[in-house]
Amino acid sequence: MERIDSDFYSDRKYCDCCKKYVSYLMSIDTSYCVECGAAVHLFSKDDWQTFNDSLSERRPKGGRPRKDRANQDKESA
Ligand SMILES: [Zn+2]
Repeated sequence: MERIDSDFYSDRKYCDCCKKYVSYLMSIDTSYCVECGAAVHLFSKDDWQTFNDSLSERRPKGGRPRKDRANQDKESA
């Protein structure tokens, strides 16, 4: 019976040094590759770029600054 590795990436991070997803040791701020000891990242650079691109697509594009003309509509007596 084979075990399905659906959570393969959940306990692995990307090591720039090994250039692959590796098991890591967790510390307070940083995680470290168990194979070479370098700091690891949640994503590879390519994956990170993809992640950032997907984020920036959510931002509204071409937001025009509205001129503050609403006050001029006030009737002054
Ligand atoms: Zn490594």
